[in-house]
Amino acid sequence: MRSELIKKFEDLKQENQVKLQRALDNGKKVVGLYCTYAPQELVLAAGAIPIGLCGTNEKPIPAAEKDLPRNLCPMVKSSYGFAATDTCPYFSAADMIIGETTCDGKKKMFEIMNEIKYTHVMNMPQTPDADSSRELWKDELKKTKEVLEAKLGVRITEDSLREAIRTTNREKRARKALYDLNKIKPAALSGTEMLKAAWLTTFSPDKNEVIEMISDFKNSLEELVSKGECYGDENTPRILLTGTPVGLGSEKVLTLVEECGGNVVCSENCTGYKTVDIIIPEDEERDVWDLLAESYMQIPCSVMSPNNKRLELIEKICNDFQIDGVIDLTWQACHTYNIESYQVEKKVKEDLNLPYLHIETDYSNSDLQNLKIRIAAFLEMIK
Ligand code: SF4
Ligand code: SF4
Repeated sequence: MRSELIKKFEDLKQENQVKLQRALDNGKKVVGLYCTYAPQELVLAAGAIPIGLCGTNEKPIPAAEKDLPRNLCPMVKSSYGFAATDTCPYFSAADMIIGETTCDGKKKMFEIMNEIKYTHVMNMPQTPDADSSRELWKDELKKTKEVLEAKLGVRITEDSLREAIRTTNREKRARKALYDLNKIKPAALSGTEMLKAAWLTTFSPDKNEVIEMISDFKNSLEELVSKGECYGDENTPRILLTGTPVGLGSEKVLTLVEECGGNVVCSENCTGYKTVDIIIPEDEERDVWDLLAESYMQIPCSVMSPNNKRLELIEKICNDFQIDGVIDLTWQACHTYNIESYQVEKKVKEDLNLPYLHIETDYSNSDLQNLKIRIAAFLEMIK
C-alpha cells in the first residue's frame, strides 16, 4: 500500500512534463531558480511558474567541465551541465533564470550561464542579523520585481504578492506536516521515500495541486501508521542528515544508510526541513517587502556568517525526531558547508551528546564501498 502511494510521486516524472507543456501552450511563463533564497513569491505574483533547477545528477558533469574547473561543487557543475547540453526540459522551458551570489562557485557560474539564457543575479547579503542585510535584500527583491515585470511583460501588484505569500506558506505548512510524520517511532517513511515525495513535487507547474497531493499523501500515511504500517522498527537507528542539498540522482548517502539498517528520518537541508518553519507573516499590515526580506534572511544556509540558526535547527530536530546520530554531508569543494562542519560537530557531540559523522563526497559512485563501510560502522556504534 505504501509503495502505491509512493508510485504516485514517481509518476510525476512524466506527468510534470506533460503539465508543463500544457501550461506553456496556454501562454504561461516559466522562471528557473537555483536556490532557496530565490524569491518564488515574486515569480508566482508575476503569474509565472517557478521551477527549481539545481542539478543533482552526475550525467552532464563531463560536459560542464569543458567550461568549468573540475574541482568545483558537483551541484554547480551538474546545474550548468544540464543547461550547456540542453538536456533539462525545465531549463529549456524557462523564459529567464534568477540566480544569486550565495557561494563563489554559483555566482561565477551564473556569469557563464547568462551566455546560454538570461540570468538575473541577486546580490545576496551574508550577515543574516544585520539591519543593512535586510535593507540590501529588500532592495534586491524590488529590483528583481522590476526585472520580472520587464522580461515577462506583466505587473506585480501588492495584492498578487500577498496572495503568493499565502500560497508558499500553505506549501511549507503542508510539507512540514508530512515531514513531521517521521517524528514517531518507528518512522512513517524511509529517507528515500520522503525524498521522492519532497523532490518530485518541486517540478510541478501547479502549486495548488502540489499542496493537495502532499496533504492527501500525509493523510493516507497517517491511516497506514495507525494500522502499524511503518518503516523499520523500534531499533532502527534514526539519523538526521544535515549539510548540502540532496535530490534524486545524488541520494547515495540516504540509500546507504537504509542498506546498512538505519533510516534518515529527517533531512535538515534545502530539499528537506531547512525552510518549512519559516512562515512569512501573511496577516500583518506591515510593508510586504520588509516581511519578505526578514523571512528570507532567516534561512540557515552555510553561506551566512555567523549561521547560528542552523545549529538551533539541528538541536530542535534532534529533540523532536528522537535522533540517534547525525550525518553531515558536504559536496566536494563546498567550502562553506565543509568549514561549518567544525561548529556542527561540536554542537552534536558536545551539546547534544550524539554520534556524528562527516562525509565529503561527490555525485559519483566511485567511493560507494568506502562510504558503506563508514556508514555501517557508524550505525553499529549507535545500535
Ligand atoms: S544550500 Fe544554501 S546556497 Fe544551496 S540551495 Fe540551499 S540556501 Fe541556496
Ligand atoms: S553545495 Fe555549497 S558550493 Fe555547492 S552550490 Fe550549494 S553552497 Fe554552493
